[in-house]
Amino acid sequence: MSTPKDTAPAQASNFLKNIIERDLETGTYASRRWAGSPGDAAHQSAGQPDPAKIRTRFPPEPNGYLHIGHAKSICLNFGLARDYGGVCHMRFDDTNPEKEEQEYVDSIVDAVKWLGFGWEANNDSHLYFASDYFEFMYRAAQYLIEAGLAYVDAQSAEEMRANRGTLTEPGKDSPWRNRPAAESLQLFAEMREGKHADGSLILRAKIDMASPNINLRDPAIYRIRHAEHHRTGDTWCVYPMYTFAHPIEDALEQITHSICTLEFEDQRPFYDWLLERLADGGLLAKPLPHQYEFARLNVTYVITSKRKLKQLVDEKHVDGWDDPRMPTIVGLRRRGYTPEALQLFCERTGTTKSSSLIDYSSLEIALRDDLEGKAARAMVVLDPVKLKLTNWNDVFGAGHVEPCSAPVHPHHEEMGRRQFNLTPEIWIEREDFMEEPPKGYHRLTPPRTDAAGVEVAGSMSRLKYGYVIRCTGCEKDAGGQVTAVLAEIVPDTKSGTPGADSVKVKGVLTWVSASEGTSAEVRLYDRLFSEAHPDAGGRDFLEALNPQSKQVVTAFVEPGLAAAPAGTSFQFERHGYFVADSQDHQPGHIVFNRTTTLKDSWAK
Ligand code: ATP
Ligand code: MG
Repeated sequence: MSTPKDTAPAQASNFLKNIIERDLETGTYASRRWAGSPGDAAHQSAGQPDPAKIRTRFPPEPNGYLHIGHAKSICLNFGLARDYGGVCHMRFDDTNPEKEEQEYVDSIVDAVKWLGFGWEANNDSHLYFASDYFEFMYRAAQYLIEAGLAYVDAQSAEEMRANRGTLTEPGKDSPWRNRPAAESLQLFAEMREGKHADGSLILRAKIDMASPNINLRDPAIYRIRHAEHHRTGDTWCVYPMYTFAHPIEDALEQITHSICTLEFEDQRPFYDWLLERLADGGLLAKPLPHQYEFARLNVTYVITSKRKLKQLVDEKHVDGWDDPRMPTIVGLRRRGYTPEALQLFCERTGTTKSSSLIDYSSLEIALRDDLEGKAARAMVVLDPVKLKLTNWNDVFGAGHVEPCSAPVHPHHEEMGRRQFNLTPEIWIEREDFMEEPPKGYHRLTPPRTDAAGVEVAGSMSRLKYGYVIRCTGCEKDAGGQVTAVLAEIVPDTKSGTPGADSVKVKGVLTWVSASEGTSAEVRLYDRLFSEAHPDAGGRDFLEALNPQSKQVVTAFVEPGLAAAPAGTSFQFERHGYFVADSQDHQPGHIVFNRTTTLKDSWAK
């Protein structure tokens, strides 16, 4: 795996590392065994001492595309396993039949691999599906019933809600709470056999209806759902609730540190209650996993709610899940974000227990820090106007083209040099010529008489990697729009020759040969939202959409770029970082996406 640049600032603190170091020191998990696959106590106890010092997991539900928040969780879980001689499991938490699809499974696998992580270790592939544990989960539920720790309830959803109580009032026992275990077992079997309708019966843990923690007031653990599952088909019509399934998944996989976001803090007592009971019953191996919570990643100008991202796609506010403005991993990737930049970002944002809001610019800074040292440079004109070098034939002779060369990277000679020709007509940026320049303007201006009646000569600028030129005027169309800038070459001033310093100029112009450069579609992306908190306080986030978030221009690019493979990043000199679009860029139709500008254009 590639590591982020070593000039990165000192790593932000990470309380989880302290916990893991303490556990390693005291040998909390030293006695664990691992049979080579997930399984119950009997299975694991027949295995070897676990070769993994710790086990973490990344457990997405395959019900959507991953986003920058998931990248945080991926970098955290896989990163801790890597740093402490452990293994991180890639686990699909696919216990909810209705919303899950194979398409999402595939995209999640791709995203995690692309980010630079893998799940092959110690000759095992640690890719797991929670749905493979359904049989065990069913058995665990039966055990709880037998032990008097669960019962089948026949209250309606409304009755259960009404009887749950509030933060200040205890709940009321269900009339079915003391149903004999044999009766619950029978009903639970019938639920599995498909004899009951969705919602008519539900299995609940029997804990404490007066608990101050509402999650312990007899939480539902198994429900009836006559629904087709993307992997198990119609084998099952009862499905475990997330709060029941997740701890069991962790325990079967011998996870040591089960890391989740803060909203699950109130679930931890049930997590522990459940695993301790199942371990006492001999179903699960000890030592048991522990849950730790950290604050989820929030980034300004970004929304990470799956529902809202889906709305953006469905209502066509963006061009799909991989639109380069989306905070999805596929979107960030198409925008030109690199795995290294995202890893760097996740590391720098640290891991804490108190929620914080990360500034969007940190994401761009991490990207620039990664690309600065490795992206090839290129000259591109985004807003072209033609410049004619009127003394070309006198200086060089008709038909001549003047070879120029530039480093691929100014600080990395080993990356080689790029070659292109200066020709009598070139493209320059429209903003590099002004008839009436403001004070301090150093680029091309024609000869003129200023406000005080003084004659001012046409200004001089350097064509980057080429010659100094002097502006002599311009051509305009009937509407007064400038159609060409006119200039003369100042002989013997070519960059890299002894005469280069004979004339001092302040302006340096980027340019592309009109006869040899290639036209390209360049998509100028900007932030999708123009407000830092697009969905704060329940407001309609669509109102905060930035109408300028995508502009498409026809640009001219250095000839060498025509052959750039899709997905390659460049620094377009003076403009920023751009990537050859992974979908639409091809020979004959060059398409670049702006990843980010060189400097933060949003800073006040
Ligand atoms: P859902 O609303 O569907 O549950 P989710 O974003 O929680 O959405 P999961 O597939 O359950 O999606 O997430 C997988 C893992 O990614 C979980 O462990 C979750 O805690 C973590 N995760 C999701 N969003 C963030 C975030 N913004 N910051 C850090 N971790 C996150
Ligand atoms: Mg979730």
